[in-house]
Amino acid sequence: MAGGHDGGIIADLSEFRTDPITGRTVIIAPERAGRPNEFQNRRAVSRTARICAFCPGNEKETPPEILSYRDAGRADEPGWRIRVVPNKYPALPAHEVIIETPDHNLTLADMPLPQAAEVLHCFQERLAALRRNERLQFATIFKNQGEGAGATIEHAHTQLLALPDVPWSIRQELEASRSDGEASGVCAYCRMARQAPESRRVLDSEGFTVISPYAARFPFETWIVPKDHGSHFDAVGGEGLADLAGVFQDTLRRINRALEGPAYNMVIQTAPLQAPPLAYYHWRIEIIPRLNKIGGFEWGTGVYINPTPPEEAARRLSGEEA
Ligand SMILES: [Zn+2]
Ligand SMILES: [Zn+2]
Repeated sequence: MAGGHDGGIIADLSEFRTDPITGRTVIIAPERAGRPNEFQNRRAVSRTARICAFCPGNEKETPPEILSYRDAGRADEPGWRIRVVPNKYPALPAHEVIIETPDHNLTLADMPLPQAAEVLHCFQERLAALRRNERLQFATIFKNQGEGAGATIEHAHTQLLALPDVPWSIRQELEASRSDGEASGVCAYCRMARQAPESRRVLDSEGFTVISPYAARFPFETWIVPKDHGSHFDAVGGEGLADLAGVFQDTLRRINRALEGPAYNMVIQTAPLQAPPLAYYHWRIEIIPRLNKIGGFEWGTGVYINPTPPEEAARRLSGEEA
């Protein structure tokens, strides 16, 4: 540990990095924490005995379902494989919960591959449905896994929230990627997928590359980036989706192994609902283990301090280090 006294936030080993697309600055400050497994109390585990509203048999505990994939039974009865319901405490009118499995103890990381692919297909089906409502401009699909990440129910689920406007941060990113693309003639994310150095690569499949981004905001922040250009997640076809499900599960398992099952957030970043296919925006999945707390410095400046260099995160996740 170097310079380890209070107030020494930015010491000798720190490095400023600017995200090449958004221009967002982060500080990679490895002296702020020791080995990643010294992060504490951010585990996802918490087995409670309360009645679970997402388990089969308790369908009446949720609002009536919007959609289900099922082997048997009628709406709001057991027999479903995946179930979509309105959020009981919606933040906005279009706020849905995708219950990924009837099995209370399965997670997206360890369910059978075909089921994980079906979960992704369900996300796509809901995005396509919400797009038909022209008042909805933007939808975000996100998962809070574990109490440390804001989850209040442990049964595997993902949320979908649609907004009547495109949020400011997304507008900024759209604008930044458009001006970068127009200047260079290549989508910046396509470039990122093809040219990320070996030192920041976690794994590759036929259609996807998994990287630790150059200017990672958080320790072990991990992105799954499609190799082929596409601005909308729901345009990915069946074969691509099966490939993605495998890569997604592999990535989550690596994170679980390296960090002992941390709480995490996952977001599918995809282009605005009503936008046509965009030449310079590129959908992706971002996974952020919740290992450190955001403090006043980040709050006050919008600049994140990341104690784990992305190269170290990639080395551990890619399995080069036991
Ligand atoms: Zn349950
Ligand atoms: Zn692209």
